[in-house]
Amino acid sequence: MPQTERSTSFPSRLVGQYALVTGASQGIGRAVAVRLAQEGATVAVNYFGSAEGAEETLALALAASSDRGHGKPDHVMVKADVGNEQDIAAMFETILARWKRLDCLVNNAGFQRESPSEALDIETYRRIIDVNLNGAVLCAQKALAHFVARGGGGSIINCSSIHQIVPKPGYLAYSISKSGMAGLTRTLALEFAGRGIRVNAVGPGAIDTPINAAWTGDPEKRGVVTSHIPLGRVGTPEEIAAVFAFLASEDASYITGQTIYACGGVTLFPEFRENWAS
Ligand code: NAD
Repeated sequence: MPQTERSTSFPSRLVGQYALVTGASQGIGRAVAVRLAQEGATVAVNYFGSAEGAEETLALALAASSDRGHGKPDHVMVKADVGNEQDIAAMFETILARWKRLDCLVNNAGFQRESPSEALDIETYRRIIDVNLNGAVLCAQKALAHFVARGGGGSIINCSSIHQIVPKPGYLAYSISKSGMAGLTRTLALEFAGRGIRVNAVGPGAIDTPINAAWTGDPEKRGVVTSHIPLGRVGTPEEIAAVFAFLASEDASYITGQTIYACGGVTLFPEFRENWAS
């Protein structure tokens, strides 16, 4: 099927699930919130800063639920800086007071800054680790405490990156935050497997979102990016969201502790496309 004609008839694998998606005001987080809603979940759209993007995500999620025959679920917007412990605690209090349950946490919020590593400002470094990694840890703790207290399991899906395993020079804090996702995902997966809680991650490659605004709209720069991708194109947020929906669903009931790289083959050492080693 040509990439432009992908099927839009999704299954309804997430009916009855309540899911929190962090950083859902745009990009991959928005696509995940909408996809989960399309599959029947009730979603909490976390945002930080202006509410505008989150309002748009909420409207898209509501339309998606209604279009797919899931009625009018109690989708909600919840403001919190994922780099702030008090904000995270308040966010979970709000959601659990309203829904009384949570089934799936998507740790998606993240950002990056470029700097030569020897000149990386320590405050910038700390903030990136606080949002991308520590925020995911703190959200996971809150979700796990709830899953354990109510029994019956749950799932956590971390938005990692190819940079969990591929170094990104000039982005030291980002690379460390995503490498840390591997330890977070695998350790929690093992610790909580006996309680029916699955913990996985998705590792996107180059995806068409605002985080990549420096090159997505520039044909020349985009061409350079594309030339490094074995499948020959940049990914869409919807293609990444599909992996999250799979991992959240019973179709992934026997999968835990894994990172699925949705990267068009970038983790395959593309330099080996043509043999040069023998
Ligand atoms: P994006 O910049 O469009 O979205 C990031 C989202 O995180 C935004 O909604 C932003 O408001 C939110 N966010 C940032 N700081 C926050 C904070 N302190 N509290 C709450 N929310 C916060 O970028 P994206 O591409 O959609 O990125 C989403 C995730 O995907 C990130 O974790 C990113 O590292 C990861 N990722 C993206 C790509 C890609 O190519 N786009 C590749 C690999 C991994």
